Amino acid sequence: MRVTFTPIRRRDKGISGTIAVLQDVTEQERLEQSRREFVANVSHELRTPLTTIKSYTEALDDGAMEEQELGQRFVGVIRNETERMIRLVTDLLHLSRLDSNQAPLRRQQTGVHEMLEEVADRFSFQLRSKSIRAEVHVEKGIDTILLDRDQIDQVFDNLVSNAIKYTLDGGKIVISARRLDTAAIAISVKDTGIGIPKKDLNRIFERFYRVDKARSRNMGGTGLGLSIAREIVKAHGGSISLDSELNEGTTVTVLLPALIEDGEPV
Ligand code: ADP
Repeated sequence: MRVTFTPIRRRDKGISGTIAVLQDVTEQERLEQSRREFVANVSHELRTPLTTIKSYTEALDDGAMEEQELGQRFVGVIRNETERMIRLVTDLLHLSRLDSNQAPLRRQQTGVHEMLEEVADRFSFQLRSKSIRAEVHVEKGIDTILLDRDQIDQVFDNLVSNAIKYTLDGGKIVISARRLDTAAIAISVKDTGIGIPKKDLNRIFERFYRVDKARSRNMGGTGLGLSIAREIVKAHGGSISLDSELNEGTTVTVLLPALIEDGEPV
């Protein structure tokens, strides 16, 4: 709350009163604060790989290039950091398009079973290399749903990629779809991974929020995957939620409207 006082002055009579204006600035301040945090986060996230790239380039310049093995390792680090920066900028541009409604939905009838099987197939290499079993279960009666396939693919790619990143070797991931009622379908991605502490759960969809920044960065994460997923699901008229038990696993559930009339959820 901002309070401003303006004295009322009458000619020759000095101050005869005061006007007090009470202004509710909490929402405005909150927005301003989150904008400042966002800019600080973006700068920091870009600065970190740039600093690494700079120091490894200097090391190569200072002689590391002469040792073939060492030189190759340093070039590898530079390539990884560059790729992470490209991912970060791509994610930021995507978020900004979603924020300004410049990513109109191109809805098409999509087979749910086929869509989820294809998500799992796209990750078969990572799944195999960590010996993680993946299962897809789709309840009988769920056939097609109207959605923007490219954008929803991005949602489930982010969720399955997280499930793999945060699950130890030999774990299990289940992608399942069930009908909630006639109006909604719930699709969830459940893993047997490291889980998320209770204290972090209510901030997990915030931009750049991570439980363990170092671990996420090492795994190539940008800290924007869940925020992007949430914006895309919201644009579809749906919602996304996350349940987790530390050291047991995490389930992310996406609710999507099943009935669409004239392109709008009913
Ligand atoms: P990141 O690129 O860091 O994975 P996300 O926005 O996708 O960013 O996720 C934010 C954070 O939520 C992650 O850094 C991680 O700490 C946590 N997280 C997301 N999904 C899972 C999961 N399936 N299991 C455990 N932690 C998860």
